[in-house]
Amino acid sequence: MTLSETTNDIHGRCYCGAVKFSIAADTKPLLAGYCHCKDCRQAHSAPVYQYVYMDQEKFSITDGKDLLNTYTRNESVTDHFRRYFCSQCGSKVYNFMHYSRDNNNIDLCGTFPSLFDDQKIAMSNVWSPKKHVHCSESILDLECFTDSLPRS
Ligand SMILES: [Zn+2]
Ligand SMILES: [Zn+2]
Repeated sequence: MTLSETTNDIHGRCYCGAVKFSIAADTKPLLAGYCHCKDCRQAHSAPVYQYVYMDQEKFSITDGKDLLNTYTRNESVTDHFRRYFCSQCGSKVYNFMHYSRDNNNIDLCGTFPSLFDDQKIAMSNVWSPKKHVHCSESILDLECFTDSLPRS
C-alpha cells in the first residue's frame, strides 16, 4: 500500500482473495483491450481475455506479495515480460512488461479487469477494452463480438 492511497483507488484480488492489489485513482490505462493470442489463451485457460496496462508505479500489490509466483516457458523474454500468479489459487494477477521506445525505458504493469472488486469499473469508459489484438490467432468466431472496436 502506498502512502498516497485514497478511497477512490481501484481494488482487485485473485480468485482466493489472498493476493490483493490497488491501482491509483487517477490512473489512465495506456493499453486496454482483448487479447486473442495463443500464449494468453493458454496462460489464462480462456478463449480471450481483457487486459489493461499502466505505468508500473500506478499499480501496487497490497496483500499476499509472498504468494506471487512467476513462470515462463521462454527464458529469453523474462527480462521484459513476466506473468505473475497466485501460488495458492493459480489465478493470474498481473504481467510485468518492459520495453524501450525512442531511447526511453518503460516499465508497465498489466492486470485484468475481471479481477476488479467493482465490476462496473471494469467496463467503464476508462477501463473498458479499446481494441482486439492478435485476432489472426483467435479460435473464436469474431463475428460474435458486435462491438466496433478496431481489430489487429
Ligand atoms: Zn489466490
Ligand atoms: Zn496475448
